[in-house]
Amino acid sequence: MEHKIEPLYDGPLFRNAIQTLEEAAKIINCDPNVLERLKRPRRSITVSVPVRMDDYSVKVFTGYRVQYSPTLGPYKGGIRYHQNVDLSEVVGLAALMTFKNSVLGLPLGGAKGGITVDPTKLSRTEKQNLTRRYASEIGPFVGPTQDIPAPDVGTDPQTMAWFMDTYSQENGGFAQPGVVTGKPIEIGGSLGRNHATGLGVVYVAEKSFEVCKMSMKGASVAIQGFGNVGSFAAKFAYERGARIVAVSDVSGAIFNGDGLDIPEVMEYVKAHKFLKGYPKATAITNEELLELKCDALFPCALEGQIDVHNAEKIQAKIIVEGANGPVTNSATKILHKRGVFIAPDVIANGGGVIVSYFEWVQDTMSLFWDEHEVDNRLKTIITKAFDKGYSLAAEKNIDLRSAAMAVSVQRLEKAMLLRGLYPR
Ligand code: GLU
Repeated sequence: MEHKIEPLYDGPLFRNAIQTLEEAAKIINCDPNVLERLKRPRRSITVSVPVRMDDYSVKVFTGYRVQYSPTLGPYKGGIRYHQNVDLSEVVGLAALMTFKNSVLGLPLGGAKGGITVDPTKLSRTEKQNLTRRYASEIGPFVGPTQDIPAPDVGTDPQTMAWFMDTYSQENGGFAQPGVVTGKPIEIGGSLGRNHATGLGVVYVAEKSFEVCKMSMKGASVAIQGFGNVGSFAAKFAYERGARIVAVSDVSGAIFNGDGLDIPEVMEYVKAHKFLKGYPKATAITNEELLELKCDALFPCALEGQIDVHNAEKIQAKIIVEGANGPVTNSATKILHKRGVFIAPDVIANGGGVIVSYFEWVQDTMSLFWDEHEVDNRLKTIITKAFDKGYSLAAEKNIDLRSAAMAVSVQRLEKAMLLRGLYPR
């Protein structure tokens, strides 16, 4: 089928999201008017972000905030700092956030933001200047009941602290913690938020092993990406007895067939910033990591890592998508045919936004939960979404991505039909 996409938003990630949307719409026999509306973002904002650099020169960066759908609640989604960010990528990620929040059953719409910048090339001061000006530029469109950003690739709790402070200073001066999630604990963050995406990946991995009648204990696992998602996924899988044979970051991948000592690798990265040079492993490439013979593969880096070009070469039996869009829709079909089980991003990496939701709720109540409660509530929500998707997949004999998308689109369809079209 030819998927016609508005040229302004056209790009591989969004194209892929539209493809999965159209297939899901078919499965649930979605109202065509609803589908038409779901194929476009509600609003996309592009801003120029001038920044005073440390040498006193001024550099102008481009920033985005795409508010895809407000049907189920306030817009919600992270902010990405990466040199490859462009409007089409942010639109694609915002669409994914919409489908993710819907399948997870959260009372949140979908959004995403980003700045085209390599944050590793900025000093701390430059990063703060960039974040504050970006927060100021998109300030009129965000707020605790409107649009609630969060961290993503290249941003962290400190970034959220600057964002929250800027927004608060510009809107009365008093603290408004509910405007962003993923904040440091001291200023309204939630316990358990920092490791939430990685922990969610492992909860979903446990379910995946279970339905594949395999055991996570002793299983060999390869993990692409060792940032906030990959490193915690590695830690929690390691604690559950999995043998983590390879991990990677931008400096390359490291391999040890006997299993890596993950706490030690984490210490190494703390001291050396990158995995490169870790002594008790062999260096391999990121591509080799993806194609390793192992029980499970967790792609926890960027989108489009497994596509039609390497899908046939993947040897893992289970793939758990810690990243957004790491396996394309066409690759999913190939892998599904080959009997590879894929836990799709909209469920597998949902831990981050689930605990973001908890953080926002806690900020609103000014009443905070202990970490145990946060982790348990996360498990309940993510497991429920997995089970719901899995029973539909089994019933219709389809892959879990298609099933999860069908659940998601059905919830959005119901809500859109109930709300109707304004003015009419
Ligand atoms: N950036 C994360 C994601 O892609 C978290 C979003 C959020 O917490 O709002 O799901």
